[in-house]
Amino acid sequence: RLDTALDLIAEVPDFPEPGVLFRDLTPVFGDAAAFAAVVDALAGTLDPTTELLAAIEARGFLLAAAVGYARGLGVTLIRKPGKLPSVDGRIDYALEYGTATLELPAGTVPAGSRVAVIDDVLATGGTAAATCALLGEVGAEVTGVSVVLELAGLGGRERLPAVRVHALRVR
Ligand code: AMP
Repeated sequence: RLDTALDLIAEVPDFPEPGVLFRDLTPVFGDAAAFAAVVDALAGTLDPTTELLAAIEARGFLLAAAVGYARGLGVTLIRKPGKLPSVDGRIDYALEYGTATLELPAGTVPAGSRVAVIDDVLATGGTAAATCALLGEVGAEVTGVSVVLELAGLGGRERLPAVRVHALRVR
């Protein structure tokens, strides 16, 4: 059931820029059985000591909301800049071309809390590593990074040496 679900991930060449093979999870989200299979599998990757989920904008929001509901966990939303009225932290990180910024909503992650990070795709790992660093700055303990798809050969896992990385599929 999970394999069938993951087979729905579409590959879009040259998006958002030439040379990038974009992995589109839209067909997974749109298929009730596939969405349930992926959410159940992600929920199964969580370290049992996890107390809170950190969802990476934007597709991570959808996945983490469902996983959080399934597991009885709350979710904090790791956001792109300019969306949050009040933040506890902000981190700039390098992309292949240029930089990006992520922000942590104020008051959402108590010091010492055990947090799992959720996103759709792990590529170079820059986004997940920045999220882990942001959570570390407020004193949280990252219990793992869980993604639907890991793109092999881009060094994502190597970028997260101190974190357990769970991927439902590696391609
Ligand atoms: P990275 O920081 O390189 O690991 O990129 C991960 C973030 O960018 C995730 O939030 C993904 O949603 C998105 N992303 C990066 N590469 C791709 C890709 N080839 N297809 C779909 N999403 C991607």
